[in-house]
Amino acid sequence: MVRSALKSCLNGLAVDMCRCLHIIRMQTIERLGPLPYHRPTDLASALRLAALPDRKVIAGGTDVFPAAAQGQRFETMLDVTAVAEFSKIEISDSEIRIGAAVRWMDLIRADLPAAFDGLKQAARQIGSVQIQNSATLAGNLCNASPAADGVPPLLTLGASVEVASAAGGMRQIRIEDFIQGVRKTALQPDEIMTAIVMPVPPAGAGASFEKLGSRSYLVISIAMVSAVIATDAAGVITYARIAVGACSAVAQRLSGLEQACIGEKPGSVDVTADHLVELAPIDDVRGSAIYRHEAVAELCKRAIIGAAG
Ligand SMILES: Cc1cc2nc3c(=O)[nH]c(=O)nc-3n(C[C@H](O)[C@H](O)[C@H](O)COP(=O)(O)OP(=O)(O)OC[C@H]3O[C@@H](n4cnc5c(N)ncnc54)[C@H](O)[C@@H]3O)c2cc1C
Repeated sequence: MVRSALKSCLNGLAVDMCRCLHIIRMQTIERLGPLPYHRPTDLASALRLAALPDRKVIAGGTDVFPAAAQGQRFETMLDVTAVAEFSKIEISDSEIRIGAAVRWMDLIRADLPAAFDGLKQAARQIGSVQIQNSATLAGNLCNASPAADGVPPLLTLGASVEVASAAGGMRQIRIEDFIQGVRKTALQPDEIMTAIVMPVPPAGAGASFEKLGSRSYLVISIAMVSAVIATDAAGVITYARIAVGACSAVAQRLSGLEQACIGEKPGSVDVTADHLVELAPIDDVRGSAIYRHEAVAELCKRAIIGAAG
């Protein structure tokens, strides 16, 4: 009874927040005045328009419009969501390719290997269903927030991003090199992201995503952990990738913990302070650095056990 009342209350909150986002969008459009708005349907046109000065790329707009409402200015909007190949998820023998306009809901519904379950769990916890229906994984990466829920799962999947410009052609950048700091990426002013590319994960690997927030819905992460784990027939870990977000300017893989996992059973992995040296959590309104450190150790244990199934 209490649970269902809470659920309907949170659903109402989600609808209200999305109405808020719609209002922000309308107010922003009013404030910015009439702006050229381009929505190309092919890559060549998108790249030509990306070379325009002071243009803003927009996908779902769930980061762009709130930022514009707070005063961010631009001259031209370049909506990339109609470029046909950007909406595809392609699986080949060697890689999995997620187009730059693929939304969180598309990921939730996609038939992907079990190693992508962490990314799917993150997708289900992004904002609300309304946000998942419009926001994209590419937008989450390009926005480069330390609390971006998409980054730790992609680190554990060994992802690279594909970016392109009319002048420079295409290049691939490892996710570790793409996100360079708070709201800072390796994108050049005339480049756009075209896809996110992952190698096919090891056979039998599973994954999980643990998000800590002040509630379980519509919340910015205090800390989050993603893990991809494979075990042998005896249940011993043979492969481990673990990454943490919201505990440093840029999400980090925990290489010491990954090594410590090998040869252990998932429930026996002890997460020590030495395993968390890559992290530099801060005190902020959502939690203290000490709290984040302690919480993340527990989240790592849960993520390892969850990923091992
Ligand atoms: C109510 C609400 C709840 C939210 N909850 C969460 C949450 O739980 N977890 C979380 O991580 N985030 C959350 N967000 C933030 C946001 O929804 C995500 O970061 C989302 O994935 C952004 O995607 P988008 O398509 O809307 O990006 P947009 O707003 O369209 O773009 C974001 C940035 O990426 C750039 N960009 C987009 N696509 C490209 C491209 N192809 N090439 C180059 N640049 C590009 C834009 O120029 C902009 O700088 C929330 C936002 C709202 C409003």
